[in-house]
Amino acid sequence: MICTKCGHNNVAEARFCEECGSPLGGAAPQQPSYAPPQPSYGMPQQNFGGMQPPKPQGSPGFGIASMVCGIVALVTACCIPYVPIILALVGVVLGGVGLRGNRRGKGMAIAGLVTSIIALVPTVIVIATGSAIISGLSSL
Ligand SMILES: [Zn+2]
Repeated sequence: MICTKCGHNNVAEARFCEECGSPLGGAAPQQPSYAPPQPSYGMPQQNFGGMQPPKPQGSPGFGIASMVCGIVALVTACCIPYVPIILALVGVVLGGVGLRGNRRGKGMAIAGLVTSIIALVPTVIVIATGSAIISGLSSL
């Protein structure tokens, strides 16, 4: 029995080729039965079908709150002591949260951070100079 695939001369009773293992018996060489399945249905795509993709975490509220805090701190920095610092610090924290959380509120979060930091600087200077003057007066 000569193998139809490789031509190896096997014994007559052999059902499979000794050389390559293909089935013998006069039948036409079989096609590999494990042919890769055709992806007829395609990849299971994640189709949102009109639905909106999941919203990013957080909301623009943090950015807005940060901006409000920064602006209020900036406005009150000249007339109210200490309060603007708290507002500015809150604005910085909220701005940081807004920056991390979501993309839409990022611009406002940045604005809040900037206004808060701007508000923080003069109040710190005012308090620093004020305490310096007080300490200077008390040392007299
Ligand atoms: Zn063979």
